[in-house]
Amino acid sequence: MGEFDLIARYFTRPTPHAVLGIGDDCALLQPAAGMQLAISSDMLVEGRHFFADVDPSTLGHKALAVNLSDLAACGARPLAFTLALALPRADEPWLAAFSRGLFALADSHGCELVGGDTTQGPLNICITVFGEVPAGQALLRSGARSGDDIYVSGTLGDARLALDARRNNTPLPAALQAPAKARLEKPTPRVALGLALRGVASAAIDVSDGLLGDLGHILKASGVGACIDTSVALHLIAACAHPAWATGLFSLEKQLDCVLAGGDDYELAFTAPVSAREAVLAASLQAATPVTRLGQIEAAPGLRLTDGDGRPVIHRFSSFDHFA
Ligand code: ADP
Ligand code: MG
Repeated sequence: MGEFDLIARYFTRPTPHAVLGIGDDCALLQPAAGMQLAISSDMLVEGRHFFADVDPSTLGHKALAVNLSDLAACGARPLAFTLALALPRADEPWLAAFSRGLFALADSHGCELVGGDTTQGPLNICITVFGEVPAGQALLRSGARSGDDIYVSGTLGDARLALDARRNNTPLPAALQAPAKARLEKPTPRVALGLALRGVASAAIDVSDGLLGDLGHILKASGVGACIDTSVALHLIAACAHPAWATGLFSLEKQLDCVLAGGDDYELAFTAPVSAREAVLAASLQAATPVTRLGQIEAAPGLRLTDGDGRPVIHRFSSFDHFA
């Protein structure tokens, strides 16, 4: 199968919203009046971001999910995406499964594939997403102010549990295995929450490299510091709600590690003024996405951790850095 047959068969779908989709030198998009385009790219590399034996349909899902998560963090509505793909060979069952997972998520967000590039080479997937947000309303990293509350959506740390189990070849208890693996391989981008937080959150970021590191980006961009209550944060691990968790299998150190420095969760971390607590709750309900308040923004720079009684917790965690 040639390059153009492959594109036609697996990646060409109707694009009712784009002015021009796949097939010409460029796609054409028409942003609505008063809207700004929000644009983001994320690349997935075999061996670095996924294991070679991953199910291709979940890989298709994840490749787009991590990009939609960036739109969510800006409060942007997904419109379209492009797909640059390097493939070792034209493996049709693989392509069929990959495109199935990709389009299932794309369709659920009304996000159209409008173009891309296809080449032979080591497996590498790069997606660029385009979203729209009313001019001036994008959620930025730079808006956090001293006194603001700090929130995170959903649950944190389960993806890291799955990754550690796989890396160290120490399987999780059966009851924890499947949900943790699903968190790692099939993240849910919090698009609806991002949209509901427009005009409510003062700053936002998606948690891809670990809560402390990603929150650190908000603190740096906003010129503030923060205090996080670890006794609240520890309950954010979904697995800890399961009876199998209580067997003492995971040390407190390991739990903190997962929830504060685990990556791949793709939840939203955001800040909002205390006066917006009801509005945050309303956004959470509207988006059907739980949120937890776990700390405060402070004027003094740096990130402080406390236990439930407000005593300092000494930590050694830092987020994942590809070149550290
Ligand atoms: P060009 O040579 O102008 O870069 P190509 O021949 O690479 O164009 O691609 C032909 C058309 O197919 C273009 O519209 C391009 O956007 C689209 N395309 C190529 N690869 C993909 C892909 N993996 N997914 C979606 N569209 C693709
Ligand atoms: Mg090309």
